[in-house]
Amino acid sequence: MSTIETLSRRRLMTGLAGGGLIGLGGCATAPLAKAPPALPAPYVTPYAERRPPIAPLHARMDRIFDITVCLRPFRAAGPRLDAERVGDALVVHNYGHGGSGWSLSWGSGTMAVRKAMATNPASVAVVGCGALGLTSAILAQEAGAKVTIYAKDLLPDARSARATGSWTPDSRIALADAGPQFAVLWEEMARISFKRFRRYLGLPGNPVEWSDRYFLSDPPDHDPPPPANAPAPLEFANYGERIRDITPRAELLPAGATPFPGERVRRTSSMQFNVADYSHTLMADFLAAGGRVERREFHTLSELGMLKEKVVINCPGYGARALCKDESVTPVRGQIGWLIPQPEVNYGVYYKDVSMLSRRDGIVVQALWGGDMFGFGNDQEVVDRAETERAVGVLAELYGRMTSS
Ligand SMILES: Cc1cc2nc3c(=O)[nH]c(=O)nc-3n(C[C@H](O)[C@H](O)[C@H](O)COP(=O)(O)OP(=O)(O)OC[C@H]3O[C@@H](n4cnc5c(N)ncnc54)[C@H](O)[C@@H]3O)c2cc1C
Repeated sequence: MSTIETLSRRRLMTGLAGGGLIGLGGCATAPLAKAPPALPAPYVTPYAERRPPIAPLHARMDRIFDITVCLRPFRAAGPRLDAERVGDALVVHNYGHGGSGWSLSWGSGTMAVRKAMATNPASVAVVGCGALGLTSAILAQEAGAKVTIYAKDLLPDARSARATGSWTPDSRIALADAGPQFAVLWEEMARISFKRFRRYLGLPGNPVEWSDRYFLSDPPDHDPPPPANAPAPLEFANYGERIRDITPRAELLPAGATPFPGERVRRTSSMQFNVADYSHTLMADFLAAGGRVERREFHTLSELGMLKEKVVINCPGYGARALCKDESVTPVRGQIGWLIPQPEVNYGVYYKDVSMLSRRDGIVVQALWGGDMFGFGNDQEVVDRAETERAVGVLAELYGRMTSS
């Protein structure tokens, strides 16, 4: 077994044992260093108390109705949140959220808006209409500003629409050596975001909801081989322990308790974002509060200083690499295969480095061979159908061995 494979599997398993921030998808993440203080580890609930039906997934190639690909904007030091003068404008940056942009958006936007509103401007410009731009814009409106969003692409065309949609607030958010100050900031951002998502639970269309996730592991000799040409593994920051009080624990289920094959089945619950409905809701809220949107592409940072608004929140995501000439933004390619929705499948699965999450707008299937390093440094934003077919094949093998529920 390679170092990278060992690292990936160890991170996953320790995270599950401790019940970490695991949401599946582009964002399989977050091992926890210690067992929770008040609970025995592993934390086991008598399974008879909660035994939800587990409907089988139709893992078939002819049910793949779309394949999307996008680049996560990773920064080793964490997202850029500083402010600078550009011409006569104050530009507050808010980009570089790796695999955590949806999850941290409200907290990160709060930090940016605090800086932007320090002088109480009557109007604010937001560059970008992805997860970070739209939430920053809504927060700036709530803080009393008239807001215009300037962006090349709006959701659902912005890259954020191609995310898995899991609560994964520390997925590829920084490297482990980002420092204690960033860890404190991350915790504040994660708590702000977590609380804000409550507003979107229980709404028509289910923009945000809770769902169960199952983590299945076979004996090590059945686990997948390491990917070819994998980059050397990096140690990503892992902050799950800091918000353990608001994060459900994973439980190890007794053998035979679920129809899933495999030696170990663990279950936890996590928030998911049904991105189609959620982004539609955010856009409608922004417009209903008087927000304006203008399609525009900027080629240099100095163009931001020429906007009529003299306070600008800059949320270009991966676009910052070109716009701000910021080479600290590293691409992490992620691809999603979309299977036709099955409303009866209301859970997610992680098996052999493939994740599946059932969303209202499609069943999201993603390969994560090599864990968080999969796609790292790869800026090829082009569809690789073979990758998705291989991932669906892994799920087909799993569901082919499933017993009746
Ligand atoms: C496969 C995959 C799965 C993921 N899963 C999750 C997940 O489950 N949970 C999670 O929290 N995160 C997840 N992420 C990460 C998340 O998608 C990103 O962190 C997030 O989308 C970043 O949002 P953003 O608003 O910064 O960037 P974007 O969505 O890229 O938005 C940038 C905006 O800026 C505009 N822009 C850029 N450059 C310019 C320019 N020069 N001029 C004008 N406009 C410009 C764009 O048009 C766009 O409107 C995933 C990512 C991938 C790839």
